[in-house]
Order: sequence, then structure tokens, then C-alpha cells
Amino acid sequence: MRRDYSATMAMRAEVCRCDLQGSGVTMKAEIICIGTELLLGEIIDTNAAYLAREFAAMGIDLYHKSTVGDNLKRAVETIRTATQRADLVIISGGLGPTRDDLTREAIAIAVGKPLVVNQEALRHLTERFERMQRPMTENNKRQAEFPESAEMVANPMGTAPGIWLRLNMSESSGCAIAAMPGVPRELKVMMEQEIKPRILEMMPPGEHKILRSRVLRLVGIGESAMEQLIMPLIENQSNPTIAPYAGNYEVRLRLTASAHEESEAMQLLDKLEQQVRDILGSHIYGIDDENLETVIINELAQKGQTLAVAESCTGGLISHRLTNVPGASAVFMQGAVTYDNSAKIARLGVPEQIIAEHGAVSPETATAMAAGVARTSGCDFGLASTGIAGPGGGSSAKPVGLVYVAVYGHGKTVVTERRYASDRTSNKEAFAQTALAALWQFLR
Ligand code: ATP
Ligand code: MG
Repeated sequence: MRRDYSATMAMRAEVCRCDLQGSGVTMKAEIICIGTELLLGEIIDTNAAYLAREFAAMGIDLYHKSTVGDNLKRAVETIRTATQRADLVIISGGLGPTRDDLTREAIAIAVGKPLVVNQEALRHLTERFERMQRPMTENNKRQAEFPESAEMVANPMGTAPGIWLRLNMSESSGCAIAAMPGVPRELKVMMEQEIKPRILEMMPPGEHKILRSRVLRLVGIGESAMEQLIMPLIENQSNPTIAPYAGNYEVRLRLTASAHEESEAMQLLDKLEQQVRDILGSHIYGIDDENLETVIINELAQKGQTLAVAESCTGGLISHRLTNVPGASAVFMQGAVTYDNSAKIARLGVPEQIIAEHGAVSPETATAMAAGVARTSGCDFGLASTGIAGPGGGSSAKPVGLVYVAVYGHGKTVVTERRYASDRTSNKEAFAQTALAALWQFLR
């Protein structure tokens, strides 16, 4: 089967203004997950997320994902619609032996074919039951009833065989349907071993494109300010594409390249990354999974410098994040949770008078905490946090969500003030991120 996509090209060009494939059109896939428990929110649809990632990596366009309950009429409608607009329909779930497992029947009705016993599937089931020394019941045999002309897809991890069915595979049109059991580990193995090779076979050679993404992670700048600065790049994007989004108390930029080969994709990404760095370089601290604590620990380790942390409102969260990084012990000497004023005074040597005059949540106290923890621990750098996590303890002058973080190093202290408006846990996370971001910027 080779589809001729030229008929749909004009429309597709219209629809996807920023088509990743500079060369034109790619295969269109659609995912259907069947199961009432998905609609009830009893289980999370991890299969659709997994399949979507697989399609993205293969350079296959995914325009629709649907979830439908164990209802024959609605399953038929959903499958029929999908086959009319996609080249490839992947169905998850409903292939078991019980009455509510209706995927086989729904496909048959949707495509107008009778259900017939697939001999290979029957043999597979019989052998499996013999091996398990269990009697095969009549409803188990239902699992071998396939829409006519469908192929069996082997299931090495379970009982229910999968289905592969090609429709109207003429020169110019058609659609393939793949159905797999809903159990995630079964679906993954079948997708990897059985379905992917069949999909690749369907794709004309020129379409074997891959998508590769790179995420740039930024601090010290908001999403809209960032977008303004790189607007020319956003407006002129084609391949790679560039998309800003908000991460956890930071902003991120996702660059996505489409190419025939890994090296080509990497070159495209490198070039765009450099253009972004020319504009935003002073804010980009990491790439992909790199987090602030990793970057900080590695940088200090390279310089052979040490760090101590004094935490009030963050209650140890900053120290926790730093100690999550392998090799932190070479850099991170100690973290003190100095929650009460008495602890700030006794442990860090914060002058009583500073707290009395400015309050515990103040730039002055933060400064004294950072310098104090560095001095008393003999470290090169001191990092401190003091703020109001809420829900109580705020005032109009010092509202809930207010935080001061201070970084001390080389005889100098820099204080940062930020205001957040969230619940206690989220505020603490935001405070910790603010502190680490301030330290990273100080180290630059
Ligand atoms: P079985 O032979 O086990 O009945 P099946 O093909 O009929 O397989 P379902 O009954 O729909 O599949 O699902 C089996 C189990 O797999 C569910 O109880 C659920 O735990 C899990 N599952 C189903 N669909 C999904 C999904 N989309 N994402 C994650 N897990 C799922
Ligand atoms: Mg089932």
C-alpha cells in the first residue's frame, strides 16, 4: 500500500501553517482508547500519552485522540469517524474475553465486515491455555473472532491477541487499524515489536522522518518578556519550531526539529539554540532534564568551591534539592533550618537588633542569614531564605507569598525579593526555586 497524499496537500498546507515537514505531508494517526473506567477517571490514560509520544518520535502527525466507554454504538461511531480522516487508527483496550470487551465487534461494524474466527488467533489462544493448564471457555474463544481479513498481532505478554486490519489499500487511499489490549505493558511490547514495523512498512521512504526536541530552561525572566525578546524567531519559525511554555516556577522553550536523520536534526537544533542564546543566553541555565541544583552543584564542584544554606520558610527544601544531586557532598557542606528567630540569632549570628528593627522577613535579615551561614560554616557561598508561606502570618505590608532570598559570596551579598500567591506547599516550592535561581545568577 502506498498512499498518494497529493490530493490532500493543499488542504493540509492550509490547516498546518507551521507544518514541521518542510517537504510536505506526513501520515496522520488517530488514537482511540476504549474503556468506561477511563471516562470515569478511575484510571489515568497512560496508553494514549505513550502512543502520542511514539508518533511524535516517528514524525507521524496526530490530530485527534478520543476516549469512548464500553458502548458498542459509540465505539462504532468513533472508529468510523477516525477511519474517515486518518491513515492509521490505533485502538487501546476492550479486547478481553468478557461481554463488555467490544472492540472486535465495533471494528467489524465500523468497517462493514463480518466477524470470523481467525485461525492463527485461535491456535495462539489454545496453546496459551494448554500451557497455563486452564480450560478454555467459550468466551475465551471470542478473542479469536476478528473482522474478516484482519491479521493477528501476537501478544507475548498476555492472552488477548491484537488486530491489524488494512482497509481499501488501493493506490490512492486507505487506512490501517491496529487494536491492542489496554494493559499498558502488553500494549507497549506489541507496539514496539509488532505494530511499529508494520507502520514503517506503510510509510513511503521519504516520509521516514524523525522529530527531535530540545528544551531550554530559563530563570530570571517571565514568559511574556521572553516571548517579546524572541518574537522574530517565533514569527519566522518553520523547521525547527520554537514554542515557549511555563515550567515549574521557570520558563521553557521547546525547539523541535524534523529531519531524516539524527545528525541533521541535531544540526538544526544547534543552530536555533545558538540564535536563542544570542538573545537570552544570560537566562538559560539548562537543557532538557538538567535542573538548577544539578547545574549549581556541577559548577561549584568544578571550581572547588563550597556552599552552606540557611533556610527559614523553605524548611529544608533547598537543601533537599541540592542533596538530590549525585556528588553534592563535594560542594554542599551544611544546611541549617533556622525557623525561629532564636535559631537565626544563635546558629547564624544574625544580630538581634536587625530582626527587631526590620522583622524576620526582611532583606536585612536575609542578608545577615546568608553571610552568617557562610561565615559560621567556613564556606565560600551562603544561601538564605526567609518569607511567609501562609496561609496565616501575612500583613498588608508583608503579605503571604513574600520571600527574600540572599546569596553571599566573596564579601558581597545580593538580595532578591519575590511575591507569590499560592498555597503553603506551592509557595515553599516557589521560594526554593527563587533561591536556587538567585544563586545560579550570582555564580555567573
Ligand atoms: P483484558 O484482556 O485485560 O481485559 P483489554 O484489552 O480488554 O484487556 P481493558 O479491559 O480495556 O483491556 O483494560 C485492561 C486494563 O488495562 C484496565 O483495567 C486498566 O488497568 C488498563 N488500561 C486500559 N486502558 C488503559 C489506558 N488507556 N491507559 C492505561 N491503562 C489502561
Ligand atoms: Mg477487558
